[in-house]
Amino acid sequence: MTIELHSITYGYIETLPIFKDFQWRVEDGETWAVIGPSGCGKSTLLYLLAGIRQPDAGEVVVKGETITRPRPRTGLILQDYGLLPWETVHQNVTLGLRVREFYGPDGTHAPSDEEVREINARADHWIARLGLENVAGQYPGQISGGQRQRTAIARTLALNPDVLLMDEPFASLDAPTRENLQKLVLQLQAEQQMTAIIVTHSIEEAAFLGKKILLLGKPPNWQTQVIANPGAGGDDYLNSPAYLDVCNHLRLTLEAVI
Ligand code: ADP
Ligand code: MG
Repeated sequence: MTIELHSITYGYIETLPIFKDFQWRVEDGETWAVIGPSGCGKSTLLYLLAGIRQPDAGEVVVKGETITRPRPRTGLILQDYGLLPWETVHQNVTLGLRVREFYGPDGTHAPSDEEVREINARADHWIARLGLENVAGQYPGQISGGQRQRTAIARTLALNPDVLLMDEPFASLDAPTRENLQKLVLQLQAEQQMTAIIVTHSIEEAAFLGKKILLLGKPPNWQTQVIANPGAGGDDYLNSPAYLDVCNHLRLTLEAVI
């Protein structure tokens, strides 16, 4: 799914734009990491891409369509997972599907028994794929951070997205869990043929995940700084000289932009 930002300007306050005449282009099926210091506009960029916020000037175009509101096939995973604490893992995974079915074309109809069966079957599929069978009946407060993130991913993938936006998805996980989930996300992305944009403030994570890396700096962002990292995601990439080179390059560049 091609994603284009055409001369985007956006600010929460007019005098201090976060993006100014900002250009960016993401090709179908690419995996990008977006990195930059806290407050540089990473989350804002995802909200613009998701259609949750509208640019003051310029256009966000996804698959040739100018985005003026959220797009059904864009999946967005927020920083804190956004799970409902009073619903079980299974119920959380069905959430998006239930919303979609409940508020169908007429905005009022309730799902039929057949639709409910379909929703549950689709949730079961993703629960199994994410290895959550054993905790499907538990509540978010009863499971680990990694399992919460898996639940959030299952909920999003159940909606069959073609664009996956993730906001610092692995930031609060311990190292082995993080590595495990990073690999799983890359696998799922390839499997589902999604275009993925992963926001992070971690140099190592950007270098491991992003075949291309977009660098943001102190607002306003007006230049598109991109680092190519074609080996990302490959087996054993973490032990390769190319990976270390990219990490060093990112470190130096980030020091310069702050
Ligand atoms: P990042 O995700 O890179 O940490 P954000 O996109 O969240 O950065 O924020 C970019 C800038 O915009 C920050 O200076 C932040 O304080 C400001 N900002 C974010 N959300 C709002 C808001 N709702 N109102 C006003 N300013 C905001
Ligand atoms: Mg953020």
